[in-house]
Amino acid sequence: RNLKKYFPIKRGLFSRVVGHVKAVDDVSFGVREGETFGLVGESGCGKSTLGRVMLNLKSATAGEVRFEGRNIHALGPREMRELREEMQIIFQDPMGSLNPRFLVRDLIGEPLKLHTKLSSAAIDDRVVQLMELVGLDATRRNRYPHEFSGGQRQRIGIARAIALEPKFIVADEAVSALDVSVQSQVLNLMMKLQEELGLTYLFIAHGLNDVRHISNRIGVMYLGKMVEVADTDALFAKPLHPYTQVLLSAIPQPTLRGKRERIVLQGDVPSPANPPSGCRFHTRCPFAQERCRAEEPALLEAAPGRQVACHFPLA
Ligand code: SF4
Ligand code: MG
Repeated sequence: RNLKKYFPIKRGLFSRVVGHVKAVDDVSFGVREGETFGLVGESGCGKSTLGRVMLNLKSATAGEVRFEGRNIHALGPREMRELREEMQIIFQDPMGSLNPRFLVRDLIGEPLKLHTKLSSAAIDDRVVQLMELVGLDATRRNRYPHEFSGGQRQRIGIARAIALEPKFIVADEAVSALDVSVQSQVLNLMMKLQEELGLTYLFIAHGLNDVRHISNRIGVMYLGKMVEVADTDALFAKPLHPYTQVLLSAIPQPTLRGKRERIVLQGDVPSPANPPSGCRFHTRCPFAQERCRAEEPALLEAAPGRQVACHFPLA
C-alpha cells in the first residue's frame, strides 16, 4: 500500500545527496493467495525493486507491505526470520546467485541448515527429495553448479527456494536467461510446483508474452508506477492503458485476423530521478493531451477487477 522506494543519488567527496531515484513511487496492489501475478515493464521501471521490497530484502522508503495481514517492515528480527521461511526469491541468473564453491547438496540444503534443527543426514534426505521434485538427478548432488546446464541450475535455484516450503515466491526474470525450449520446461515445473505446494508467485518479466501463460493477473509498470492491473485474458483481449497497448503490440500475432500493428515508442525512457510531470508516460504517449502534462492520473477501477491509471483510457 502506497509503497515507495527511493534511492539517494550521491555526489562528490562527502557523498552529498543531490536527488533521488524514485524506483517505486506510490504503488498499491495485492497478490492473492495461490495465484501468479505477472509484473511487467521495461528495464528500470522498478519491478525488481518492488519485488525485493515486498520480501523485505530492501527496506521501504514509505508505505507498507502486508503479508497475511502483518506489516512486514514493522516486524522484529525474530519474527522476520520466521517470515523469511514463507517468502523466497528465484533470481534470473542462477550462476550469479549460486555460490560456485558450494556443492549442489550444500546450496539446496543451506536454508534447511539455517532455519531448521534437522541433522545432516535428514537434510541430505530432504535434498534428495527436493532434487527429485524439481527433476534433477539426486546422485549428482556432490557436484558444483558449473557442472550443470543453465536450465538445471535454475532448477537448483528453485529447489533451494522451496526447501523451507514457502507460501510466496518472487521469481525475478527466472527464465529470461534460458533458451526458449528450456524456458517452457522450467515454467511447467513452476506451475506443477505451484499446484502441488500451493505456492503464490509474483512473476517478474520484461514483456507481456513472458508472463501470459503462467499469470492469472498482470500488473504493468512504467517508471516506478503501476499503470494497469487486470486479469490476464482481459488484458490481452483489450488493454486499457496506452503503454499496455504498446507492450502488447510488440508480440508477434500470426492470427487469421492479421497482425496487430507494432507501435514503436518515440524517445527514450525518462530518468526515474527526474520523471515527467503529470502522467509519467506523457512524453512518449501517442494519445497525450494537455491535461496529461499537468495532472497525474491515479490508478482507478475501470471495470470489476480492473484498474488503470490514465486520463483517457482506450475504449
Ligand atoms: Fe497517455 Fe495521458 Fe493516458 Fe498518460 S494519462 S497514458 S499521457 S493518455
Ligand atoms: Mg530487473
